[in-house]
Amino acid sequence: MFIESFKVESPNVKYTESEIHSVYNYETTELVHESRNGSYQWIVKPKTVQYEFKTDAHVPKLGVLLVGWGGNNGSTLTAGVIANREGISWATKDKVQQANYFGSLTQASSIRVGSFNGEEIYAPFKSLLPMVKPDDIVFGGWDISDMNLGDAMGRAKVLDIDLQKQLRPYMEHMVPLPGIYDPDFIAANQGSRANNVMKGTRKEQVEQVMKDIREFKEKNKVDKVVVLWTANTERYSNVVVGLNDTTENLMASLERNESEISPSTLFGIACVLENVPYINGSPQNTFVPGLIELAIRRNCLIGGDDFKSGQTKMKSVLVDFLVGAGIKPTSIVSYNHLGNNDGMNLSAPETFRSKEISKSNVVDDMVASNGILFEQGEHPDHVVVIKYVPYVGDSKRAMDEYTSEIFMGGKSTIVMHNTCEDSLLAAPIILDLVLLAELTTRIQLKAKHHPKFHSFHPVATILSYLTKAPLVPPGTPVVNALSKQRSMLENIMRACVGLAPENNMILEYK
Ligand code: NAD
Repeated sequence: MFIESFKVESPNVKYTESEIHSVYNYETTELVHESRNGSYQWIVKPKTVQYEFKTDAHVPKLGVLLVGWGGNNGSTLTAGVIANREGISWATKDKVQQANYFGSLTQASSIRVGSFNGEEIYAPFKSLLPMVKPDDIVFGGWDISDMNLGDAMGRAKVLDIDLQKQLRPYMEHMVPLPGIYDPDFIAANQGSRANNVMKGTRKEQVEQVMKDIREFKEKNKVDKVVVLWTANTERYSNVVVGLNDTTENLMASLERNESEISPSTLFGIACVLENVPYINGSPQNTFVPGLIELAIRRNCLIGGDDFKSGQTKMKSVLVDFLVGAGIKPTSIVSYNHLGNNDGMNLSAPETFRSKEISKSNVVDDMVASNGILFEQGEHPDHVVVIKYVPYVGDSKRAMDEYTSEIFMGGKSTIVMHNTCEDSLLAAPIILDLVLLAELTTRIQLKAKHHPKFHSFHPVATILSYLTKAPLVPPGTPVVNALSKQRSMLENIMRACVGLAPENNMILEYK
Protein backbone atom coordinates (compact mmCIF):
# COMPACT_ATOMS: atom_id res chain seq x y z
CA MET A 1 0.00 0.00 0.00
CA PHE A 2 1.18 3.52 -0.75
CA ILE A 3 0.57 6.53 1.51
CA GLU A 4 1.35 10.12 0.55
CA SER A 5 2.70 11.39 3.87
CA PHE A 6 3.20 10.51 7.53
CA LYS A 7 4.34 12.01 10.80
CA VAL A 8 6.49 10.27 13.39
CA GLU A 9 5.16 10.21 16.96
CA SER A 10 7.90 9.39 19.45
CA PRO A 11 9.50 10.80 22.59
CA ASN A 12 12.64 11.02 20.43
CA VAL A 13 11.27 13.43 17.87
CA LYS A 14 9.78 16.89 18.14
CA TYR A 15 8.26 18.74 15.19
CA THR A 16 7.88 22.50 15.61
CA GLU A 17 7.05 25.26 13.11
CA SER A 18 10.71 25.99 12.61
CA GLU A 19 12.52 22.68 13.05
CA ILE A 20 12.46 18.91 13.45
CA HIS A 21 14.53 17.72 16.36
CA SER A 22 15.39 14.06 16.83
CA VAL A 23 17.43 11.94 19.19
CA TYR A 24 18.91 8.93 17.51
CA ASN A 25 20.77 5.87 18.77
CA TYR A 26 23.52 5.06 16.29
CA GLU A 27 24.34 1.37 16.62
CA THR A 28 27.90 0.81 15.51
CA THR A 29 30.97 -1.24 16.40
CA GLU A 30 34.40 -0.63 17.79
CA LEU A 31 37.20 -2.86 16.55
CA VAL A 32 40.27 -3.83 18.52
CA HIS A 33 43.20 -5.91 17.30
CA GLU A 34 44.92 -7.19 20.39
CA SER A 35 47.00 -9.96 21.78
CA ARG A 36 45.10 -12.53 23.83
CA ASN A 37 46.72 -15.71 25.13
CA GLY A 38 49.75 -15.13 22.93
CA SER A 39 48.01 -14.57 19.59
CA TYR A 40 46.44 -11.51 17.95
CA GLN A 41 42.67 -11.46 17.63
CA TRP A 42 40.10 -9.09 16.23
CA ILE A 43 37.60 -8.11 18.87
CA VAL A 44 34.36 -6.46 17.78
CA LYS A 45 32.52 -4.50 20.41
CA PRO A 46 29.00 -3.27 19.61
CA LYS A 47 28.47 0.27 20.79
CA THR A 48 25.68 2.80 20.79
CA VAL A 49 26.35 6.49 20.22
CA GLN A 50 23.50 8.86 20.84
CA TYR A 51 23.15 11.64 18.26
CA GLU A 52 20.84 14.59 17.98
CA PHE A 53 19.65 15.92 14.62
CA LYS A 54 18.12 19.31 13.96
CA THR A 55 16.49 20.00 10.58
CA ASP A 56 15.43 23.49 9.64
CA ALA A 57 11.81 22.99 8.52
CA HIS A 58 11.66 26.21 6.52
CA VAL A 59 11.87 25.31 2.83
CA PRO A 60 13.60 28.16 1.01
CA LYS A 61 12.88 29.53 -2.44
CA LEU A 62 15.72 27.93 -4.40
CA GLY A 63 17.67 29.19 -7.37
CA VAL A 64 19.71 26.72 -9.40
CA LEU A 65 22.51 28.02 -11.58
CA LEU A 66 23.89 25.55 -14.10
CA VAL A 67 27.31 25.94 -15.68
CA GLY A 68 26.67 24.67 -19.22
CA TRP A 69 22.99 25.64 -19.00
CA GLY A 70 22.52 25.52 -22.77
CA GLY A 71 23.90 21.98 -23.11
CA ASN A 72 21.86 18.80 -23.49
CA ASN A 73 21.54 18.19 -19.75
CA GLY A 74 20.91 21.83 -18.85
CA SER A 75 18.22 22.39 -21.48
CA THR A 76 16.58 18.99 -20.85
CA LEU A 77 16.35 19.55 -17.11
CA THR A 78 14.97 23.08 -17.51
CA ALA A 79 12.43 21.85 -20.06
CA GLY A 80 11.43 18.90 -17.89
CA VAL A 81 10.81 21.01 -14.81
CA ILE A 82 8.75 23.56 -16.76
CA ALA A 83 6.72 20.74 -18.35
CA ASN A 84 5.98 19.32 -14.89
CA ARG A 85 5.20 22.71 -13.40
CA GLU A 86 2.82 23.62 -16.24
CA GLY A 87 1.24 20.13 -16.35
CA ILE A 88 2.11 19.77 -20.03
CA SER A 89 1.18 16.63 -21.95
CA TRP A 90 2.14 15.85 -25.54
CA ALA A 91 1.35 13.40 -28.28
CA THR A 92 3.88 10.70 -29.09
CA LYS A 93 3.34 7.97 -31.67
CA ASP A 94 2.30 5.66 -28.82
CA LYS A 95 0.12 7.77 -26.53
CA VAL A 96 -0.50 11.09 -24.87
CA GLN A 97 2.46 11.43 -22.51
CA GLN A 98 2.29 13.37 -19.22
CA ALA A 99 5.32 15.15 -17.78
CA ASN A 100 6.87 13.21 -14.89
CA TYR A 101 9.98 12.97 -12.76
CA PHE A 102 10.84 9.32 -13.44
CA GLY A 103 14.49 8.63 -12.69
CA SER A 104 14.60 11.03 -9.76
CA LEU A 105 15.31 9.37 -6.42
CA THR A 106 13.71 12.20 -4.48
CA GLN A 107 10.64 12.67 -6.71
CA ALA A 108 9.85 9.21 -8.02
CA SER A 109 11.09 6.64 -5.50
CA SER A 110 9.60 5.42 -2.26
CA ILE A 111 10.64 4.21 1.16
CA ARG A 112 9.12 1.56 3.41
CA VAL A 113 7.58 3.02 6.56
CA GLY A 114 6.27 -0.18 8.16
CA SER A 115 3.59 -2.85 8.13
CA PHE A 116 -0.15 -2.40 8.58
CA ASN A 117 -2.68 -5.29 8.63
CA GLY A 118 -0.18 -7.63 7.02
CA GLU A 119 0.71 -5.22 4.25
CA GLU A 120 3.91 -3.32 3.61
CA ILE A 121 3.35 0.44 3.67
CA TYR A 122 5.42 2.71 1.43
CA ALA A 123 5.60 6.49 1.16
CA PRO A 124 7.36 8.88 -1.23
CA PHE A 125 11.07 9.37 -0.53
CA LYS A 126 10.44 13.11 -0.50
CA SER A 127 7.92 12.77 2.35
CA LEU A 128 10.71 11.98 4.85
CA LEU A 129 11.82 15.60 5.30
CA PRO A 130 10.59 19.00 4.08
CA MET A 131 12.24 19.55 0.69
CA VAL A 132 12.13 22.14 -2.08
CA LYS A 133 9.57 21.25 -4.75
CA PRO A 134 11.23 21.09 -8.18
CA ASP A 135 8.38 23.11 -9.69
CA ASP A 136 9.39 26.06 -7.48
CA ILE A 137 13.04 26.17 -8.58
CA VAL A 138 14.19 29.23 -10.53
CA PHE A 139 16.78 28.21 -13.14
CA GLY A 140 19.61 30.24 -14.57
CA GLY A 141 23.22 29.73 -15.55
CA TRP A 142 26.19 30.28 -17.77
CA ASP A 143 27.22 28.90 -21.14
CA ILE A 144 29.99 29.67 -23.60
CA SER A 145 27.30 29.44 -26.31
CA ASP A 146 24.77 32.29 -26.32
CA MET A 147 21.93 30.17 -27.69
CA ASN A 148 18.66 30.70 -25.84
CA LEU A 149 17.22 27.70 -24.03
CA GLY A 150 14.39 27.21 -26.54
CA ASP A 151 16.87 26.82 -29.39
CA ALA A 152 19.26 24.87 -27.16
CA MET A 153 16.48 22.35 -26.50
CA GLY A 154 16.10 22.00 -30.29
CA ARG A 155 19.87 21.63 -30.74
CA ALA A 156 19.93 18.87 -28.12
CA LYS A 157 17.37 16.75 -30.07
CA VAL A 158 16.30 14.98 -26.90
CA LEU A 159 12.63 15.80 -26.33
CA ASP A 160 9.66 15.00 -28.59
CA ILE A 161 8.90 17.73 -31.07
CA ASP A 162 5.31 18.27 -29.90
CA LEU A 163 6.63 18.87 -26.39
CA GLN A 164 9.33 21.23 -27.67
CA LYS A 165 6.69 23.34 -29.45
CA GLN A 166 4.74 23.77 -26.23
CA LEU A 167 7.82 24.56 -24.16
CA ARG A 168 9.43 27.01 -26.55
CA PRO A 169 7.51 30.11 -25.35
CA TYR A 170 8.65 29.45 -21.78
CA MET A 171 12.28 28.99 -22.76
CA GLU A 172 13.02 31.39 -25.61
CA HIS A 173 13.72 34.31 -23.32
CA MET A 174 16.14 32.31 -21.16
CA VAL A 175 19.66 33.22 -22.26
CA PRO A 176 22.78 31.95 -20.49
CA LEU A 177 25.28 34.38 -19.00
CA PRO A 178 28.75 34.36 -20.59
CA GLY A 179 30.85 31.35 -19.48
CA ILE A 180 34.54 31.01 -18.74
CA TYR A 181 36.13 29.61 -21.89
CA ASP A 182 39.62 28.18 -21.82
CA PRO A 183 40.33 26.16 -24.97
CA ASP A 184 43.23 24.48 -23.21
CA PHE A 185 40.81 22.55 -20.98
CA ILE A 186 38.16 21.25 -23.38
CA ALA A 187 38.38 19.69 -26.83
CA ALA A 188 39.35 21.94 -29.73
CA ASN A 189 36.09 20.91 -31.45
CA GLN A 190 34.13 23.06 -28.97
CA GLY A 191 35.70 26.29 -30.29
CA SER A 192 32.92 26.93 -32.82
CA ARG A 193 30.20 27.28 -30.16
CA ALA A 194 32.20 29.59 -27.88
CA ASN A 195 30.55 32.92 -28.71
CA ASN A 196 29.51 33.93 -25.18
CA VAL A 197 32.69 34.29 -23.25
CA MET A 198 33.62 36.16 -20.09
CA LYS A 199 36.55 38.52 -20.45
CA GLY A 200 39.27 39.44 -17.98
CA THR A 201 41.88 37.70 -15.88
CA ARG A 202 41.04 34.56 -13.92
CA LYS A 203 40.61 36.63 -10.77
CA GLU A 204 38.24 38.98 -12.56
CA GLN A 205 36.30 35.99 -13.88
CA VAL A 206 35.91 34.65 -10.34
CA GLU A 207 34.67 38.06 -9.24
CA GLN A 208 32.25 38.16 -12.18
CA VAL A 209 30.80 34.76 -11.24
CA MET A 210 30.32 35.96 -7.65
CA LYS A 211 28.57 39.07 -8.97
CA ASP A 212 26.39 36.96 -11.28
CA ILE A 213 25.29 34.82 -8.33
CA ARG A 214 24.43 37.86 -6.21
CA GLU A 215 22.52 39.53 -9.03
CA PHE A 216 20.59 36.34 -9.81
CA LYS A 217 19.61 36.03 -6.15
CA GLU A 218 18.51 39.63 -6.00
CA LYS A 219 16.60 39.66 -9.29
CA ASN A 220 14.73 36.41 -8.67
CA LYS A 221 14.20 36.96 -4.96
CA VAL A 222 15.51 33.50 -4.09
CA ASP A 223 16.65 32.67 -0.57
CA LYS A 224 19.35 30.21 -1.57
CA VAL A 225 21.35 29.23 -4.63
CA VAL A 226 23.03 25.97 -5.63
CA VAL A 227 25.50 25.94 -8.53
CA LEU A 228 26.15 22.78 -10.54
CA TRP A 229 28.72 22.15 -13.29
CA THR A 230 27.12 20.32 -16.22
CA ALA A 231 29.41 21.92 -18.79
CA ASN A 232 31.86 20.03 -20.97
CA THR A 233 34.27 17.56 -19.47
CA GLU A 234 37.63 19.22 -18.98
CA ARG A 235 41.03 17.61 -19.06
CA TYR A 236 42.59 16.97 -15.67
CA SER A 237 44.47 19.94 -14.30
CA ASN A 238 47.94 19.29 -12.95
CA VAL A 239 48.12 19.24 -9.18
CA VAL A 240 51.41 20.88 -8.37
CA VAL A 241 53.01 21.89 -5.10
CA GLY A 242 52.96 25.67 -4.91
CA LEU A 243 50.20 25.98 -7.53
CA ASN A 244 46.97 24.53 -6.21
CA ASP A 245 47.94 22.17 -3.39
CA THR A 246 46.84 24.52 -0.59
CA THR A 247 44.32 27.33 -0.34
CA GLU A 248 47.07 29.92 0.01
CA ASN A 249 48.85 28.63 -3.08
CA LEU A 250 45.65 28.43 -5.10
CA MET A 251 44.64 31.97 -4.20
CA ALA A 252 48.17 33.23 -4.94
CA SER A 253 48.02 31.44 -8.31
CA LEU A 254 44.73 33.20 -8.98
CA GLU A 255 46.40 36.55 -8.29
CA ARG A 256 49.17 35.60 -10.74
CA ASN A 257 46.58 34.52 -13.35
CA GLU A 258 48.13 31.03 -13.58
CA SER A 259 46.93 29.21 -16.67
CA GLU A 260 46.61 25.81 -14.97
CA ILE A 261 43.49 26.82 -12.98
CA SER A 262 40.59 25.30 -14.92
CA PRO A 263 37.27 27.09 -15.53
CA SER A 264 35.45 24.56 -13.33
CA THR A 265 37.84 25.31 -10.47
CA LEU A 266 37.31 29.06 -11.01
CA PHE A 267 33.56 28.54 -10.65
CA GLY A 268 34.26 26.49 -7.53
CA ILE A 269 36.38 29.24 -5.96
CA ALA A 270 33.64 31.79 -6.69
CA CYS A 271 30.93 29.61 -5.15
CA VAL A 272 32.89 28.83 -2.01
CA LEU A 273 33.73 32.53 -1.54
CA GLU A 274 30.00 33.30 -1.96
CA ASN A 275 29.15 30.39 0.37
CA VAL A 276 27.01 28.74 -2.28
CA PRO A 277 26.99 24.91 -2.60
CA TYR A 278 28.86 23.77 -5.71
CA ILE A 279 28.51 20.38 -7.35
CA ASN A 280 30.63 18.98 -10.18
CA GLY A 281 28.72 16.70 -12.56
CA SER A 282 31.67 16.03 -14.85
CA PRO A 283 34.67 13.75 -14.32
CA GLN A 284 37.57 16.22 -14.16
CA ASN A 285 39.47 17.07 -10.96
CA THR A 286 37.75 20.41 -10.38
CA PHE A 287 38.28 19.95 -6.67
CA VAL A 288 42.04 20.37 -6.47
CA PRO A 289 43.38 20.14 -2.89
CA GLY A 290 43.51 23.94 -2.47
CA LEU A 291 39.81 24.25 -3.35
CA ILE A 292 38.77 21.40 -1.05
CA GLU A 293 40.70 23.08 1.76
CA LEU A 294 38.99 26.40 1.02
CA ALA A 295 35.55 24.75 1.14
CA ILE A 296 36.38 23.03 4.42
CA ARG A 297 37.67 26.25 5.97
CA ARG A 298 34.57 28.16 4.92
CA ASN A 299 32.24 25.26 5.66
CA CYS A 300 30.75 25.49 2.18
CA LEU A 301 29.18 22.35 0.69
CA ILE A 302 30.96 20.84 -2.30
CA GLY A 303 30.01 17.59 -4.04
CA GLY A 304 30.91 15.47 -7.04
CA ASP A 305 32.24 14.07 -9.27
CA ASP A 306 30.53 12.99 -12.49
CA PHE A 307 26.84 12.03 -12.59
CA LYS A 308 26.26 8.31 -12.05
CA SER A 309 23.59 7.88 -14.68
CA GLY A 310 23.80 4.69 -16.76
CA GLN A 311 26.60 2.24 -17.30
CA THR A 312 28.37 2.98 -14.02
CA LYS A 313 25.13 2.84 -12.07
CA MET A 314 24.53 -0.63 -13.49
CA LYS A 315 28.14 -1.59 -12.72
CA SER A 316 27.80 -0.55 -9.10
CA VAL A 317 24.73 -2.79 -8.83
CA LEU A 318 25.95 -5.77 -10.81
CA VAL A 319 29.41 -6.07 -9.28
CA ASP A 320 27.90 -5.61 -5.82
CA PHE A 321 25.51 -8.48 -6.62
CA LEU A 322 28.28 -10.73 -7.99
CA VAL A 323 30.75 -10.16 -5.16
CA GLY A 324 27.91 -10.30 -2.61
CA ALA A 325 26.85 -13.66 -4.05
CA GLY A 326 30.38 -15.05 -3.73
CA ILE A 327 31.01 -14.90 -7.49
CA LYS A 328 34.34 -13.53 -8.71
CA PRO A 329 34.16 -10.96 -11.54
CA THR A 330 37.45 -11.23 -13.42
CA SER A 331 36.91 -9.06 -16.49
CA ILE A 332 34.66 -6.05 -16.99
CA VAL A 333 34.68 -4.43 -20.42
CA SER A 334 32.49 -1.43 -21.22
CA TYR A 335 31.96 0.06 -24.66
CA ASN A 336 30.00 3.24 -25.28
CA HIS A 337 29.15 5.14 -28.37
CA LEU A 338 27.24 8.38 -28.45
CA GLY A 339 26.72 11.25 -30.86
CA ASN A 340 25.91 14.30 -28.76
CA ASN A 341 28.18 17.25 -28.04
CA ASP A 342 29.47 15.51 -24.90
CA GLY A 343 30.55 12.60 -27.11
CA MET A 344 32.26 14.97 -29.52
CA ASN A 345 34.13 16.65 -26.67
CA LEU A 346 35.15 13.25 -25.25
CA SER A 347 36.65 12.25 -28.60
CA ALA A 348 39.78 14.22 -27.65
CA PRO A 349 42.25 12.02 -25.71
CA GLU A 350 42.73 14.46 -22.79
CA THR A 351 39.02 14.81 -21.99
CA PHE A 352 38.42 11.08 -22.56
CA ARG A 353 41.16 10.41 -20.01
CA SER A 354 39.13 12.28 -17.35
CA LYS A 355 36.12 10.02 -18.07
CA GLU A 356 38.32 6.93 -18.04
CA ILE A 357 39.71 7.81 -14.62
CA SER A 358 36.27 8.60 -13.24
CA LYS A 359 34.89 5.25 -14.45
CA SER A 360 37.90 3.22 -13.35
CA ASN A 361 37.58 2.91 -9.57
CA VAL A 362 33.90 2.16 -9.32
CA VAL A 363 34.26 -1.47 -8.28
CA ASP A 364 37.19 -1.09 -5.88
CA ASP A 365 35.20 -1.07 -2.64
CA MET A 366 33.21 -4.15 -3.66
CA VAL A 367 36.33 -6.06 -4.69
CA ALA A 368 38.12 -5.08 -1.45
CA SER A 369 35.15 -6.30 0.59
CA ASN A 370 35.68 -9.97 -0.22
CA GLY A 371 39.05 -11.50 0.65
CA ILE A 372 37.74 -14.99 -0.16
CA LEU A 373 37.46 -14.08 -3.85
CA PHE A 374 40.27 -11.54 -4.23
CA GLU A 375 43.76 -11.49 -2.80
CA GLN A 376 44.93 -8.18 -1.43
CA GLY A 377 45.61 -5.78 -4.32
CA GLU A 378 44.00 -8.12 -6.91
CA HIS A 379 41.51 -6.50 -9.31
CA PRO A 380 39.38 -7.65 -12.21
CA ASP A 381 40.55 -6.47 -15.65
CA HIS A 382 38.53 -3.32 -16.28
CA VAL A 383 38.47 -1.48 -19.61
CA VAL A 384 36.32 1.43 -20.78
CA VAL A 385 35.98 2.51 -24.42
CA ILE A 386 34.03 5.57 -25.62
CA LYS A 387 33.51 6.39 -29.30
CA TYR A 388 31.83 9.34 -30.98
CA VAL A 389 29.18 8.34 -33.53
CA PRO A 390 27.24 11.47 -34.55
CA TYR A 391 24.23 9.66 -36.01
CA VAL A 392 23.01 8.24 -32.67
CA GLY A 393 22.88 11.74 -31.12
CA ASP A 394 21.98 11.78 -27.43
CA SER A 395 20.82 8.17 -27.63
CA LYS A 396 23.83 6.56 -26.08
CA ARG A 397 24.67 2.90 -26.54
CA ALA A 398 26.37 1.14 -23.67
CA MET A 399 27.59 -2.44 -24.05
CA ASP A 400 29.12 -4.31 -21.16
CA GLU A 401 30.63 -7.73 -20.77
CA TYR A 402 31.16 -9.17 -17.31
CA THR A 403 33.09 -12.41 -17.05
CA SER A 404 33.18 -14.13 -13.67
CA GLU A 405 34.59 -17.25 -12.15
CA ILE A 406 31.92 -19.43 -10.59
CA PHE A 407 31.73 -22.78 -8.77
CA MET A 408 34.50 -25.28 -9.49
CA GLY A 409 36.36 -23.26 -12.10
CA GLY A 410 33.33 -22.54 -14.26
CA LYS A 411 32.98 -19.22 -16.08
CA SER A 412 29.90 -17.07 -16.42
CA THR A 413 29.64 -14.24 -18.93
CA ILE A 414 26.90 -11.63 -18.75
CA VAL A 415 26.48 -9.22 -21.67
CA MET A 416 24.30 -6.15 -21.51
CA HIS A 417 23.21 -3.63 -24.09
CA ASN A 418 21.54 -0.41 -23.10
CA THR A 419 20.21 2.23 -25.50
CA CYS A 420 19.00 5.39 -23.87
CA GLU A 421 18.92 9.18 -24.17
CA ASP A 422 21.81 10.22 -21.96
CA SER A 423 20.26 13.51 -20.93
CA LEU A 424 17.01 11.89 -19.84
CA LEU A 425 19.09 9.87 -17.38
CA ALA A 426 21.21 12.80 -16.22
CA ALA A 427 18.50 15.48 -15.80
CA PRO A 428 16.66 13.83 -12.85
CA ILE A 429 20.03 13.16 -11.21
CA ILE A 430 20.92 16.85 -11.44
CA LEU A 431 17.59 17.61 -9.83
CA ASP A 432 18.28 15.21 -6.96
CA LEU A 433 21.77 16.62 -6.48
CA VAL A 434 20.58 20.19 -6.08
CA LEU A 435 17.58 19.28 -3.90
CA LEU A 436 19.64 17.06 -1.61
CA ALA A 437 22.48 19.56 -1.44
CA GLU A 438 20.01 22.23 -0.36
CA LEU A 439 18.43 19.91 2.21
CA THR A 440 21.85 18.94 3.56
CA THR A 441 22.61 22.55 4.37
CA ARG A 442 19.51 22.63 6.63
CA ILE A 443 20.54 19.64 8.76
CA GLN A 444 22.70 19.90 11.86
CA LEU A 445 23.86 17.12 14.14
CA LYS A 446 25.91 16.43 17.22
CA ALA A 447 26.94 13.50 19.33
CA LYS A 448 24.95 13.74 22.57
CA HIS A 449 27.91 14.67 24.75
CA HIS A 450 29.05 17.47 22.41
CA PRO A 451 28.01 20.96 23.44
CA LYS A 452 27.42 22.29 19.91
CA PHE A 453 25.57 21.25 16.77
CA HIS A 454 27.52 21.24 13.52
CA SER A 455 26.61 20.79 9.88
CA PHE A 456 27.67 17.76 7.85
CA HIS A 457 31.25 17.77 6.62
CA PRO A 458 31.35 20.25 3.71
CA VAL A 459 32.58 17.52 1.35
CA ALA A 460 29.13 16.04 0.86
CA THR A 461 29.47 12.23 0.82
CA ILE A 462 25.71 12.11 1.33
CA LEU A 463 25.37 12.81 -2.42
CA SER A 464 27.48 9.81 -3.45
CA TYR A 465 24.50 7.76 -4.72
CA LEU A 466 24.34 10.26 -7.57
CA THR A 467 28.01 10.43 -8.55
CA LYS A 468 30.39 8.09 -10.34
CA ALA A 469 33.52 9.01 -8.41
CA PRO A 470 32.24 10.24 -5.05
CA LEU A 471 34.25 13.08 -3.58
CA VAL A 472 34.99 12.31 0.06
CA PRO A 473 36.89 14.14 2.79
CA PRO A 474 40.54 13.12 3.06
CA GLY A 475 40.82 9.82 4.95
CA THR A 476 37.20 8.74 4.40
CA PRO A 477 36.40 5.41 2.68
CA VAL A 478 34.75 5.70 -0.74
CA VAL A 479 31.56 3.68 -1.13
CA ASN A 480 30.48 2.95 -4.70
CA ALA A 481 28.00 0.11 -4.17
CA LEU A 482 24.67 1.63 -5.15
CA SER A 483 22.49 -0.05 -2.54
CA LYS A 484 24.83 1.04 0.27
CA GLN A 485 24.85 4.60 -1.04
CA ARG A 486 21.05 4.65 -1.17
CA SER A 487 20.74 3.16 2.33
CA MET A 488 23.14 5.76 3.70
CA LEU A 489 21.07 8.59 2.31
CA GLU A 490 17.72 7.11 3.32
CA ASN A 491 18.87 6.11 6.79
CA ILE A 492 20.35 9.51 7.56
CA MET A 493 17.08 11.12 6.52
CA ARG A 494 15.18 8.61 8.65
CA ALA A 495 17.44 9.47 11.60
CA CYS A 496 16.43 13.11 11.20
CA VAL A 497 12.84 12.13 12.02
CA GLY A 498 13.81 9.62 14.72
CA LEU A 499 13.23 6.49 12.64
CA ALA A 500 15.52 3.47 12.88
CA PRO A 501 17.49 2.52 9.78
CA GLU A 502 15.69 0.20 7.38
CA ASN A 503 17.09 -3.19 8.44
CA ASN A 504 14.83 -5.42 6.29
CA MET A 505 14.53 -7.97 9.11
CA ILE A 506 10.69 -7.95 9.11
CA LEU A 507 10.71 -9.76 12.45
CA GLU A 508 6.98 -9.00 12.77
CA TYR A 509 6.35 -12.01 10.51
CA LYS A 510 9.03 -14.39 11.75
P1 NAD B 1 26.77 19.29 -23.67
O1 NAD B 1 28.03 19.36 -24.44
O2 NAD B 1 25.49 19.15 -24.41
O3 NAD B 1 26.62 20.55 -22.72
C1 NAD B 1 27.69 21.20 -22.13
C2 NAD B 1 27.49 22.71 -22.27
O4 NAD B 1 28.53 23.35 -21.57
C3 NAD B 1 27.57 23.20 -23.71
O5 NAD B 1 26.41 23.94 -24.02
C4 NAD B 1 28.82 24.08 -23.73
O6 NAD B 1 28.67 25.17 -24.60
C5 NAD B 1 28.92 24.51 -22.29
N1 NAD B 1 30.25 24.87 -21.77
C6 NAD B 1 31.45 24.31 -22.01
N2 NAD B 1 32.41 24.88 -21.28
C7 NAD B 1 31.80 25.84 -20.54
C8 NAD B 1 32.28 26.75 -19.56
N3 NAD B 1 33.55 26.77 -19.21
N4 NAD B 1 31.40 27.59 -18.99
C9 NAD B 1 30.09 27.54 -19.33
N5 NAD B 1 29.58 26.68 -20.25
C10 NAD B 1 30.43 25.83 -20.84
O7 NAD B 1 26.98 18.06 -22.66
P2 NAD B 1 25.88 17.29 -21.76
O8 NAD B 1 25.44 16.08 -22.51
O9 NAD B 1 24.85 18.24 -21.28
O10 NAD B 1 26.80 16.79 -20.57
C11 NAD B 1 27.34 17.75 -19.69
C12 NAD B 1 28.41 17.14 -18.81
O11 NAD B 1 27.82 16.14 -17.99
C13 NAD B 1 29.54 16.46 -19.57
O12 NAD B 1 30.77 16.76 -18.98
C14 NAD B 1 29.26 15.01 -19.39
O13 NAD B 1 30.41 14.20 -19.45
C15 NAD B 1 28.66 15.02 -18.00
N6 NAD B 1 27.91 13.80 -17.73
C16 NAD B 1 26.78 13.51 -18.44
C17 NAD B 1 26.08 12.34 -18.18
C18 NAD B 1 24.82 11.99 -18.92
O14 NAD B 1 24.26 10.95 -18.72
N7 NAD B 1 24.31 12.84 -19.75
C19 NAD B 1 26.55 11.47 -17.21
C20 NAD B 1 27.69 11.80 -16.50
C21 NAD B 1 28.35 12.99 -16.75
